[in-house]
Amino acid sequence: MSILVQKFGGTSVATEDSRGKVVKKILDARKQGKDVVVVVSAMGRKPAPYATDSILELVDNVNPHLNARERDAIVSCGENLSAVVLVAALTAAGCDAVSFTGGQAGIVTDEVFGDARIKRIDPTRILNALKVGKVAVVTGFQGITETGDVATLGRGGSDTTASALGAALSAELVEIYTDVEGIMTADPRVVPDAKYQETVSYRDLVEMANLGAKVIHPRAVEIAMHARIPLAIKNTFSDAPGTLVTDVGNSGVSVSVTDKLVAAVAHMSGVAQIICVEDSFRTTHIVLNVFASLAKENISIDMVNVFPERMAFIVNEKDVERTVKILEDMGLNTTVTTGCAKVSVIGGGMRGTPGVMSRFVKALNSADVTILQTSDSHNSISCLVPVQDMERAARSLHSEFQLAR
Ligand code: ADP
Ligand code: MG
Repeated sequence: MSILVQKFGGTSVATEDSRGKVVKKILDARKQGKDVVVVVSAMGRKPAPYATDSILELVDNVNPHLNARERDAIVSCGENLSAVVLVAALTAAGCDAVSFTGGQAGIVTDEVFGDARIKRIDPTRILNALKVGKVAVVTGFQGITETGDVATLGRGGSDTTASALGAALSAELVEIYTDVEGIMTADPRVVPDAKYQETVSYRDLVEMANLGAKVIHPRAVEIAMHARIPLAIKNTFSDAPGTLVTDVGNSGVSVSVTDKLVAAVAHMSGVAQIICVEDSFRTTHIVLNVFASLAKENISIDMVNVFPERMAFIVNEKDVERTVKILEDMGLNTTVTTGCAKVSVIGGGMRGTPGVMSRFVKALNSADVTILQTSDSHNSISCLVPVQDMERAARSLHSEFQLAR
């Protein structure tokens, strides 16, 4: 069997017209002799009536504190509708197809409602459908717990469904269809001269996704990387070749990727900076207590810096209140800056190359961007900035590292 997984995002399945384009992509793949497994997101974005956030409003207006199990039961409905609507379009076009919810497709998750992880996939029903010549249309973003409850995989989770199915089915390729030509050197909505990339390494793309490039979910890239399944990011609305993500030869696909100094710029807003000033951080058990308490509350932290008398880190804005409560309960002197954004440059080639940090700071200075904090890894440098400086910072870094078209 040569199985192709095709995932279509919210904008791709939003309207009858765009679903026509989706059907065409599926029929083209069938003509090439592929067994096609399709993964769909919910139709459109809010205020579209069946978009995930619109559906959530049905309960948020009634009870914003509804428990996570019930929230998952309702937010997963968008994909259920989308899958059946696509099956209707495919069968109307003469292509036999069958829809599966995550649970029906054999996707078993843990019990972390709202951000569940896939534990295993039993693809028997999908394989049986393919064997009798049907296209299997699977709802993205969801699975089922061991006890039979629907659990969702977090925002961007449909990408993860596609990669995980690709791995479970040993697919020859996973195609992520969206509304851009492929992976660009930055978000084209923010950096207008962002350049399309023919290939990107798994490693750079994981880093880009983790640092906010929401074109694909980081977990989806990691799963494909570990399972050695080639990934492609393509445009539903054009016949452009898209971006191939692969470092390793698999199923005859082999691409050599030369690491660039800087491959891309990414940004993410909605974070807050937390700074605690104390005499006592010299005693590591206080630091340990802070991190242990935050972890116990499931609050994830980033850009962590600990000094003898000071510590700084960032949290998601939605976690600020709970974070401050924990720190104040511990008697720590805490300053919070909300309205922050993280802007990063990513590239496997910057490891060990002198001068990258100086160009990074030079670019931010010339754009008059306030630097609140920086952090770096072997293949990225990030800067925390006030959100109003975010777009200027991204554009300035993009031009400093000559990423433009
Ligand atoms: P979908 O609904 O198809 O999953 P998303 O909105 O999640 O689509 O992802 C596609 C969007 O990702 C693009 O419209 C673009 O604005 C954004 N994006 C962010 N960074 C990049 C990048 N480096 N390359 C391409 N697109 C990017
Ligand atoms: Mg997406």
